[in-house]
Amino acid sequence: MENCIFCKIVGGEIPCSKIYEDDKVLAFKDINPEAPVHILVIPKEHIQSANEINEKNSHIVAHIFTVVNKIAEEQGIKESGYRIVNNCGDHGGQTVGHIHFHVLGGRNLTWPPG
Ligand code: AMP
Ligand code: ZN
Repeated sequence: MENCIFCKIVGGEIPCSKIYEDDKVLAFKDINPEAPVHILVIPKEHIQSANEINEKNSHIVAHIFTVVNKIAEEQGIKESGYRIVNNCGDHGGQTVGHIHFHVLGGRNLTWPPG
């Protein structure tokens, strides 16, 4: 997808601090971390938001959760706990229009979010 910053990261046009990659998914460090561990997990395929998840592509979301599980273990936050966040649309606070799951951990996260 043209002009999508995360597609450009997938395509190698924009660098990232890569944490995990396979044929469907890429995970990299958030450029503006909100916690000691703040990683974004994205599908390589351009999907705009959670609104575009359907029966055909939902397997990617399921796969992303298995990847999160591995990342949490590698990052040492599996036992202490962490948060998986997906912001959808304007009111959800989504600023990048390529679906992504934040993995936040390494500190005590407060609830509810703002
Ligand atoms: P959201 O507000 O849920 O759309 O989250 C977008 C996230 O992408 C923010 O936490 C940004 O810090 C992060 N971000 C934006 N550009 C980059 C980039 N080039 N590399 C890594 N993270 C980025
Ligand atoms: Zn994209």
